[in-house]
Amino acid sequence: MIKLKSEREIDEMRYPNAVVGEVLAYIKEYVVDGVTTYDLNKLIEEYFKRRNVLPAFKGYAGFPAAACISLNEMVVHGIPSKKIMVKNGDLVSIDVGTIHNGWYGDGARTYAVGNVDEKLAELVESTKGSFFEGLKNLKVGNRLGDVSHAIQSFAESNGFSIIRDYVGHGIGRNLHEDPQVPNFGKPFSGIPLMNGLVIAIEPMVSMGTWKVKVLDDGWGVVTLDNSASAHYENTVVLHNNEVEILTIPEGLDV
Ligand code: MG
Repeated sequence: MIKLKSEREIDEMRYPNAVVGEVLAYIKEYVVDGVTTYDLNKLIEEYFKRRNVLPAFKGYAGFPAAACISLNEMVVHGIPSKKIMVKNGDLVSIDVGTIHNGWYGDGARTYAVGNVDEKLAELVESTKGSFFEGLKNLKVGNRLGDVSHAIQSFAESNGFSIIRDYVGHGIGRNLHEDPQVPNFGKPFSGIPLMNGLVIAIEPMVSMGTWKVKVLDDGWGVVTLDNSASAHYENTVVLHNNEVEILTIPEGLDV
C-alpha cells in the first residue's frame, strides 16, 4: 500500500532529508587516500549527533553502522571497517539514512578519489545523469515505469548496466515503503504517479555485468565480474504537480 504524504507530513520529512544532503556534502573532503571506511562512518555518525538525527541504518536488519560504504566493485551495503583503506583512484559509494521525529531520510553519492580512470569518472557522471533523466519523468500523468525506463535508457546508452537486484523505494515513517522503484522497466507501466508520492530514487550502475552477489559477511554486494559500480540516490517528493529533491535543500551543493 502506498502512503501518499500530506503537505504537513512532507514538511516533517524536510529536516531528516536535508541532513542527509548536508552530511553527503560534508563528508566529501574526507574521502581521500589513506582514510579508512571506519573513520568516514565515525565522522558521519558524529555529524548526525550534532544535528540531532538518528542513524537509520544502524541496527536496521542488524546492520552495524551509520553509513554503508562500498568501494569499487562493491555496489552497496559495505560495512565500514578499520581494515578498509581508501586509495587514490578508488570509487567510494556512501549511503546514509536518518530519522527525525519518526520520519526517514535516505541518500547516497559516489566519490572519486584523487585521479580516477576516465572511464570510472564517466560511470559516476552517468549514474548521476540517469537519476536526473528519471526525475524528468516523475510527473502526474506519467507512470512509475516511465521513471524506471528513463533511468535505464540513459545508463545503457552510455554503455553501462543497471543493477537489477536492488531498487529504490517509497519512504516516510519507514525506511522502505511501497512502491518499489526499479531502475529498469517499460514506459507506460506501473503505478500512476500522484501528488504526495515520496520516493528514494537510487540508480546503481555497473561498468560490466549487472549481476551481483552478496559477500560472506551477509551484507556487501559486489558485481559478479568485479567491475566497478556507482550509486546516486536522493529522496524526492512529487507535490503540487512539481518535483522537489528533499536531500538537496536550497543552497546546498551536493
Ligand atoms: Mg535507499
